[in-house]
Amino acid sequence: MTFKDFNLKQPIQQAIDEAGFTEPSPVQKEAIPLILAGHDIIAQAQTGTGKTAAFGLPMLNMMNGDGSVEGLIIVPTRELAMQVSDEIYRFGKNSGLKTATVYGGTSYDKQIERIKQASVVVATPGRLQDLLQGGRIKLAPKFVVLDEADEMLDMGFLDEITAIFELIQSEDRQTLMFSATMPPQIRKLAEKILKDPKTVAITKSESTNTLITQHYYVVEEHERDDALVRLIDYKNPTKCIIFCRMKKEVDRLASHLTSQGFKVSVLHGDMEQRQREVAIRGFKSGTVDIFVATDVAARGLDVNDVSHVFNYHMPFDSESYVHRIGRTGRGGKSGEAITLVSPNELRTIKRIEKDVGTKMVTQSIPSRSEVQSSKQDELIAQISATQISEHAIEIVKTLQHEIDIVAIAHMLASMMLEKQEIKGKEKIGFKAEDVERLLQKAMARNDDRNRRNRHGRGKPSFNRSRDDRGGERRRDDRPRNDRNQRSSSKPNKSGGKPPRKDYSL
Ligand code: ADP
Ligand code: MG
Repeated sequence: MTFKDFNLKQPIQQAIDEAGFTEPSPVQKEAIPLILAGHDIIAQAQTGTGKTAAFGLPMLNMMNGDGSVEGLIIVPTRELAMQVSDEIYRFGKNSGLKTATVYGGTSYDKQIERIKQASVVVATPGRLQDLLQGGRIKLAPKFVVLDEADEMLDMGFLDEITAIFELIQSEDRQTLMFSATMPPQIRKLAEKILKDPKTVAITKSESTNTLITQHYYVVEEHERDDALVRLIDYKNPTKCIIFCRMKKEVDRLASHLTSQGFKVSVLHGDMEQRQREVAIRGFKSGTVDIFVATDVAARGLDVNDVSHVFNYHMPFDSESYVHRIGRTGRGGKSGEAITLVSPNELRTIKRIEKDVGTKMVTQSIPSRSEVQSSKQDELIAQISATQISEHAIEIVKTLQHEIDIVAIAHMLASMMLEKQEIKGKEKIGFKAEDVERLLQKAMARNDDRNRRNRHGRGKPSFNRSRDDRGGERRRDDRPRNDRNQRSSSKPNKSGGKPPRKDYSL
């Protein structure tokens, strides 16, 4: 099947051709005809599977450009608002359909001006609610899209979204909900805002991006930095994103990697909007090769050519894992996801495998001499392929007066080797063949603990600090409500204690 089978209007088909899309992705195949037929839909597919075009194309196709805002797309973050509106602009420009992007932190007046001229508005919930509530804009869109609905909920936007749906004056609207996961709260929200929706659920095997290979490496807690540097040296990523759980960790790791000579930039929730944009632009253009980021900051980030995603620490839950690794393997390119785990966290790997429905393969971290020898092979290939330049001939001629030709060659090779010296200790982490044994040990420890708990013989203080998932809850783990707390300016809806500073995302 091709996009032509949808019989979209000529200017839209032309934009699809210009974008270089040939075959629709599974979610596009299912969702586009349903949307064209006028149905509300609730669609679930993993990140990186082309959801934007799945709602964007049919929606644009049904618009008539009458000068009003016909389509409203609500997204969780400013970056996503910009990305989605870029993609919508790309598909709509040949039809003269304008897009306005609406998010917090910038001038109201400019945004209101743009909205007045737009057919499509892409907005984050907070600013949109502000504009609607104050009566500064009125919207009666025919199409409303909730993109990344699960993330919006995670970020605590449920109230805003409910308010927005009360404020927009669309009786006959078509509502489309897209989400990578479908927790019960999402289903509840769907019941409220959708009319007789059709469900599009791309099954795990279809939606888990098969272009992403997933590996994990077992290391001691103190070996994480060394392991990461060794793996970057070995894998030689074009661009990579390294995920940490906490902002503090992001900053520390970024300065460590910078000191190792890598071109690094950070992305976390405490950054000003402008700083974030500068960082993302630098990453896209290649001035930096490595992004160190927290989950929240990197949500939805769509950068081409991210060859590797590293999980410096395991994410807090399986959903975050899916979102993290979805930053690679985008737009039909292959990618690799690499997770560092300590022996204590091995059970979590099993849990994620089960939740996500994929298998992660364990590997041994290559030793220093292994990486060295693979680099040498690369160097030999590189030298053999190098064109000899005039200047090089001059240089060798000059040197030859003093030094024997073989010695010159040795010196040059040494010079090049020095540049790619592999640092760190010879061996890092556990061998892949030992992991099964470690895993069994972790399971046995857990069984043992459960038994002691049942008989009430365990030390209370010890038991209280662990949960029944086998001691994998660590000191820096915390309850979900706290974790999802946004910036401190937002009142704490759960009424619990504010998150501790160290855990800021
Ligand atoms: P999602 O919202 O599901 O995470 P996106 O809509 O951001 O995914 O799409 C991911 C990337 O894949 C984007 O760069 C997009 O341009 C590209 N893409 C989407 N659909 C196709 C397609 N049918 N063929 C090729 N690339 C596509
Ligand atoms: Mg998306």
